[in-house]
Amino acid sequence: MVKQIQVVQNILQSNEEIAAQNRRLIDEAGIFALNMMSSPGSGKTTLIEVTARRLADRYRIAMVNGDITTTLDADRAQQAGAGQAVAINTGGNCHLEAHMVRDALNQLDLAAVDMLIVENVGNLICPHGFKLGVHKRVVVASTPEGADKPYKYPSMYTGADVLVINKMDLLPYLDFDLEHFTRGVEALNPGLVTFPLSCTTGEGVDAWIAWLEAEIAANRG
Ligand code: MG
Ligand code: ZN
Repeated sequence: MVKQIQVVQNILQSNEEIAAQNRRLIDEAGIFALNMMSSPGSGKTTLIEVTARRLADRYRIAMVNGDITTTLDADRAQQAGAGQAVAINTGGNCHLEAHMVRDALNQLDLAAVDMLIVENVGNLICPHGFKLGVHKRVVVASTPEGADKPYKYPSMYTGADVLVINKMDLLPYLDFDLEHFTRGVEALNPGLVTFPLSCTTGEGVDAWIAWLEAEIAANRG
């Protein structure tokens, strides 16, 4: 039993080392990198499409998409304006690990990238446990998922740098208790930068885009 725990810790350790190497590559290239995490169906890929459409005329965007079997999300991102896209087929793995992102970075022309969006596998349980080497970890929540998510999956929220609450346009039709949700997040991660928005109506998207532009500028050095 103890041995098994040591093996797991060693795996996490080497993941951290590879993540640090990824970070050096990303920083040397002056890239701003995000790790987007959420449950399946939160609208993560749609948010990435909206983001790429809004920024593709001014910034060079690369997309790394973790998917268990398909390249559908990476295809969508590329159609929306992500100049370079790599789909990581995780072969059934339910989260991305640093070595998978390293392999993806090797496929990209990093000198021609301003922002790298890593779309993690849709899963609220384990992705947060694997550092990838990015600057910001973004959790994308959505109103149809229910307001109890921060209470059920606290680690996802504790480790987040930014929170997007997507599908705000559906709020009038759902019994999503925004105050209960916000209280739960605040208890885990006080002052977490939060963008309530709707990819359908566009409400709140300007603030999200402005935040990304400021981060891209800051990481260009
Ligand atoms: Mg997706
Ligand atoms: Zn996993």
